[in-house]
Amino acid sequence: MPNIDLYSNWLEIDLGAIQNNARRASQIAGAPVMAVVKANAYGHGLVPAAHAALRGGATWCAVARLEEALELRQAEIDAPALVLGYTPPGALAEAIARRISLTVWSEQHIVLAAAAARQAGLPARLHLKVDTGMGRIGAPPEAAPALARALAETRGVHFEGLFTHYARADEVEQGFTGKQEAVFQSVLGALESAGLRPPVVHAANSAAGLLPSRAHFDVIRLGIALYGLHPSAECPLPDGFQPALTWKAALSHVKTVPAGRGLSYNFEYYTQTDERIATLPVGYADGFRRARPNEVLVGGRRVPVVGRVCMDQCLVRLDEASQAQAGDEVVLIGEQGDEAIRAEDVARRWSTNNYDVVCGIVARVPRVFNDLAQSR
Ligand SMILES: *Cc1c(COP(=O)(O)O)cnc(C)c1O
Repeated sequence: MPNIDLYSNWLEIDLGAIQNNARRASQIAGAPVMAVVKANAYGHGLVPAAHAALRGGATWCAVARLEEALELRQAEIDAPALVLGYTPPGALAEAIARRISLTVWSEQHIVLAAAAARQAGLPARLHLKVDTGMGRIGAPPEAAPALARALAETRGVHFEGLFTHYARADEVEQGFTGKQEAVFQSVLGALESAGLRPPVVHAANSAAGLLPSRAHFDVIRLGIALYGLHPSAECPLPDGFQPALTWKAALSHVKTVPAGRGLSYNFEYYTQTDERIATLPVGYADGFRRARPNEVLVGGRRVPVVGRVCMDQCLVRLDEASQAQAGDEVVLIGEQGDEAIRAEDVARRWSTNNYDVVCGIVARVPRVFNDLAQSR
């Protein structure tokens, strides 16, 4: 049955696009891809997106939280998987037992992971995070050699990786990223001289991974570009990437409203003349923000959202001559006819970035997955 007969609002996810984007990125970078599938794969659906990226040649998955990595394992995705962020001490043993790689940046982390490894009866796979300037998590660069030694010498620990994260790679001005890269290179050099280089060294996010001038080391951590979205306005994607997400809804109700009528909560909007007003079963509890202005596509044309966006519904003003009826398809993000609304356009309206827009589409919105075969 068509999606529009099944759902009030839904996402269509083009898994072929994700597969293609993974392949394209690794061609450009000349390095394999670690598919960053945190936050439900930036709203695209964790497990299907991970499968698609792996089909596109990705060799690793990365997530922010242990729960996300466990979901991959639950789905029998056995590819190497790294938790990029903090893992609480009580969860370490389970992570190790499920062969999930973890990020550490202190002596105490190593001691705790080694104890958990004994408990799990398996080695802890650990990546040392170095803070070269992002200022979030990570060991200071000068502490890295001693920590690397501890990782290499602690029983029950497999020193698997070394990494850092860039703060400003998505800007035209690459001066600070260059400095971060140089600091990281010097840490890596020190480890190499001491015979402590781990097998998987990584630094680049999407922005840095797609820049030929940046070092790509053993793998690039590809997030936003995997989904065909631009790292930033200053750092657009090269050719050959496709957005994977379309957000659609069915019009639930269409009517003519006479002039002077207040609409939706607090009557923030009044009709000026007889107006064709349509209701959409989409609201802020789906991730469609209350911010103004908002617009959507109906019948291949941009139409404004009018009145307050409610929790589960909102209203749009159709053109006078619009033939739209209840049951017609609405596009919130994606193409319809000759028009398109990109996640980047929505981000501008909401004074945020495209990451925030797609990650904010909540779990209750059904994801419908199109395979390569179906979508091409
Ligand atoms: C989220 C994240 C990434 C992915 O960044 P993109 O800009 O989406 O490519 C890479 N590395 C770390 C540490 C992250 O937290």
